[in-house]
Amino acid sequence: MIRPDDLPSSSSQQGLPPIRGFLPSTLIDWPGRIAAMVFLPYCNYRCGYCHSGALLMADTHEEIPFDQVRDYLESKRKWLDGVVICGGEPTLHAELDELCRRLRGMGYAIKLDTNGSQPEVLQRLIEAQLIDAVSMDVKTVLDHRMAELTRAEVDLEAVDRSISLLEASPLEVEFRTTCCPAFVDEEAIEWIARRLGPEANYVLQRFEPQHCLEPVFRSMQPYAAPQMEHLLDVARRHCHKARLRNG
Ligand code: SF4
Repeated sequence: MIRPDDLPSSSSQQGLPPIRGFLPSTLIDWPGRIAAMVFLPYCNYRCGYCHSGALLMADTHEEIPFDQVRDYLESKRKWLDGVVICGGEPTLHAELDELCRRLRGMGYAIKLDTNGSQPEVLQRLIEAQLIDAVSMDVKTVLDHRMAELTRAEVDLEAVDRSISLLEASPLEVEFRTTCCPAFVDEEAIEWIARRLGPEANYVLQRFEPQHCLEPVFRSMQPYAAPQMEHLLDVARRHCHKARLRNG
């Protein structure tokens, strides 16, 4: 399993994490905002349905110079509302705080996408007021299923702590579950929704077999629309604001 200390430091950008992907604008990754996206490499999990396989071991992509990202963001300051930092798992990078600080310095709001495995990083970023929003995966029930899904050692207590931390934070928070039939069923959704509680901003995402990391997932049948609607009904028993999102 990859831990923060195992990561190579960025070769060319001292003090900043390596940037391995950049999306100039997106309307769907931070609902209500027009945002750019920065992709950081490496992840401590190996979810078979991951769509970011090329970022997991990282050295398959060229590093994008931060100056290039900065110049673009400065030129689009009037048009963009924020920057989404995703991965891989961005919280593995010790230099994440500095990246947030630089983006903040340009006047950008920041959303972090995370698997919730590093609550101490979330706490640090929240206390330093370096992020405005978080999307956290709650992948399945926090039991043996997490290790099966992620194919990694998972500190379940740490993931649970991230949920509690975000619930208590002033941030815009979204919890999300990819409804992969191999790991997420009615019972799992009921458990997650009960854990998140009535006020949580909870999104059920459809599982997309294309481009999955592991071939076996590429031929897996996703839940059909009526099954997703049923899972949504189950979620809403405990989480009144639950909703569906494709992809
Ligand atoms: S946590 Fe996310 S980035 Fe990491 S392997 Fe799983 S799906 Fe991929």
